[in-house]
Amino acid sequence: MIYLDYSATTPVSYDVLDTITKVTKEYIGNANSIHSLGVKSKNLLDSATEQIAHIFNVSPGELIYTSGATESNNMALIGAALANRKKGNHIIVSKLEHPSIYHICDYLQSLGFEISYVKNDREGLIDFDDLKRLVKENTILVSICAVNSEVGVRQPLKMIRQIIKKENFGTIFHSDMTQAIGKIPVNLHDVDLASMSGHKIYGPKGIGLLYKNSNVNLVPIIHGSTKENNLRPGTPPLPLIASFSKAIRLANNDLEKREHFINLLNEKIVKHMQKYPHILINKTKYSIPHILNISLMDVMSETFIHAMEKKEVYLSTNTACASGELSTSVMAIYNDLARAKHTIRISLSHLSTTDEINKFLTYFDEEYAKLANLK
Ligand code: PMP
Repeated sequence: MIYLDYSATTPVSYDVLDTITKVTKEYIGNANSIHSLGVKSKNLLDSATEQIAHIFNVSPGELIYTSGATESNNMALIGAALANRKKGNHIIVSKLEHPSIYHICDYLQSLGFEISYVKNDREGLIDFDDLKRLVKENTILVSICAVNSEVGVRQPLKMIRQIIKKENFGTIFHSDMTQAIGKIPVNLHDVDLASMSGHKIYGPKGIGLLYKNSNVNLVPIIHGSTKENNLRPGTPPLPLIASFSKAIRLANNDLEKREHFINLLNEKIVKHMQKYPHILINKTKYSIPHILNISLMDVMSETFIHAMEKKEVYLSTNTACASGELSTSVMAIYNDLARAKHTIRISLSHLSTTDEINKFLTYFDEEYAKLANLK
């Protein structure tokens, strides 16, 4: 098998799996219970949270566990919008967001919020002048992802924050960091709210985080009885939390070394694809090497994905959550409908090998020749 869909999800690392098993077996108490088994679980919960807080240089109280980035995005955007309704109803997002952000925006629009879409340039970089123009007195929230999930464009969050805060200090800045964590260094102090997910960093599925700066107020979207955590009440999933904490610790090892290696693989693929006149490389100078997007202009993306699957090569058309639809990110960057409809996303990892990439390229040539000729 050649797995090249690491941006859709990652396999759980064995170290992380060990933690899931160990904690499931040894910590049976509910961390909310007051007896000793509960206290034992609560202590582990606290230490897992402290370790994450230490890595990101924030305080443990600023971290809220969720089921994944989709929930974190909901908690952040809906929570901030409802909490700031009296201040204004204007929200700004980029055109390079994950579909979950757009679905939340549609919902907020139905509640009376006004959504603006900030422009980006041909390299995918946010248009700073447009952002400056858009932030007004009634702008309560801006959401811009740290790394785009389809073309891998990375945004300069610190600079974006400065622009927003200069125009309106009270505007809350949220960033979906799901595709950034474990790939590039991030600084949570660049934002007020940040979403992350366990299964993108070799952790388990079903666990995520929302970072919420202590100065930010959110209206809860989930209601329950646990007093201590009013934003996400309920029994904390300790095996998931402890193993997520471990995955975060492991994800931050050797970032630079991993990126360097992944970049070599990425360049090898790009060089190979450049020989084909009907393949366009959707890569800008801000794309991180882990995500490589190409458009096969003379082949249907889905047909190609399934053809490669028969050779046990696993790819995506675009982000897994919008498979089968056009790539909104490629559209936002290149403004070319055909290009956006023919995308293939190849996502790489430090676990990928040169041998795998060589085999992938051989299979690619075979399948592409067949399908392009058919057409
Ligand atoms: N945001 C981004 C940028 C993503 O890539 C994804 C996963 N495709 C999500 C949010 C949703 O994450 P989850 O599966 O954890 O809900």
